[in-house]
Amino acid sequence: MRRGACPSLATPMITGDGLLVRLRPAGPGFTLSELTAVADAAEACGNGILEITARGNLQIRGLTAETVPRLAAKIADAGIEIAEGLAIETPPLAGLDPSEIVNPLPLAAQLRAAVIAYRPSLTLAPKLSILIDGGGQLHLGDVTADIRLRAGCAGDKTVWLLALAGTEAASRRIALLEEPSVIPAVIDILKTLSAMGEGARARDIDATLLQAGLVSVADVDAVEPLKPAPNSAGIHALGVERKVLGVGLAFGQIRAQELRTFLEAMEILGATDIRLAPGHALMVLGLAPERFAAAQALALGHGLRAFPLDPRNHIAACAGVGACASALIDTRATAQTVIDAAPGLLDGSLAVHVSGCAKGCAKPSASALTITAAPIGYGLVVNGPASAPPNAYIEEKTIRSAIERLEALVRQRKRAGESARSCLTRLGADVITTAVQQG
Ligand code: SF4
Repeated sequence: MRRGACPSLATPMITGDGLLVRLRPAGPGFTLSELTAVADAAEACGNGILEITARGNLQIRGLTAETVPRLAAKIADAGIEIAEGLAIETPPLAGLDPSEIVNPLPLAAQLRAAVIAYRPSLTLAPKLSILIDGGGQLHLGDVTADIRLRAGCAGDKTVWLLALAGTEAASRRIALLEEPSVIPAVIDILKTLSAMGEGARARDIDATLLQAGLVSVADVDAVEPLKPAPNSAGIHALGVERKVLGVGLAFGQIRAQELRTFLEAMEILGATDIRLAPGHALMVLGLAPERFAAAQALALGHGLRAFPLDPRNHIAACAGVGACASALIDTRATAQTVIDAAPGLLDGSLAVHVSGCAKGCAKPSASALTITAAPIGYGLVVNGPASAPPNAYIEEKTIRSAIERLEALVRQRKRAGESARSCLTRLGADVITTAVQQG
């Protein structure tokens, strides 16, 4: 497949361990038996490694040109409908979370139908994405998208905030729309992108011109910014009586056998459905409240992240050497080194990103600390993405001692009650760089 396209079943991507495909269920999630069938298919057709990406897509690795059609057949035989075409994403608890201002699923279904029905067919960039977010607790504020629609309140009105290109914080707010205006506005944007050519993304649109052509029901800043979403791992209340368990894959990966036995255990505990979630996670639905402690213990026993305080929640690592042809470092071993050598850094206030190259697949946005591959071993980027020029370079053999020095810096200079992130922000990139390079 060409660079920039999405590795769907029809267009798998070449990686360091064979072909990779990315799947999204057409509905909000999988039943347990459907996800078990996907795990079985990944083991039979690939190398048995499954991933959930930072934005909550499922990836199957280690496929070949011969096994991809077999994988597609097994998924179809299991009755699993896979979403094709334009990505229209909703939060993992969409339609279940009473704290949502609006359930975004009906609007997402209407938009999908409108895009499919539009003639002549739209020609859109393969990676173009639309988020429709009802504004609940596990919102998608940190997930980047070309077109963002987020429910909010402007005075006594429920509105949809239309924004372009980026995360909630980085995107450009365009208009506040009442629901009947949303689909026509989005279709107009898609028509503009289609006319600009197949590679056009929302960042290429003249936002001022677009804004001038839309009637906003109030000033775009009338909608409050989102509060930070909790980590996906842990128990999330859905109103007073219902709860769901969020479980994260350790460094984004799991073996099919491990996933299968975990799903079997969840089924015995009464779980019914699984939804994929951002942060390399999945939501286990249907557990009775008295089963949560057992479910969390079982998740931990399967190497999964099931507690908010798990230090692995705060590290994003890509596939790394052995799984990606572009990787120059063993990302998961490096991530484990950070956990072992610098637990004090992982207090939940910051995210550490370990990237096998400058592409930064595991976390395209900026992190407080990014450890990326560099010609001499590692590069350390302070407050930036993997693509930014490193503030410091670290030789391969000294990575552990460099991380230990970073932790010692924070431990010694942290003020009472200060988080690791605040301390690093106060100290600044120059002090951090000097400390890391002292060895
Ligand atoms: S960030 Fe680079 S090394 Fe890591 S998975 Fe992406 S392309 Fe591969």
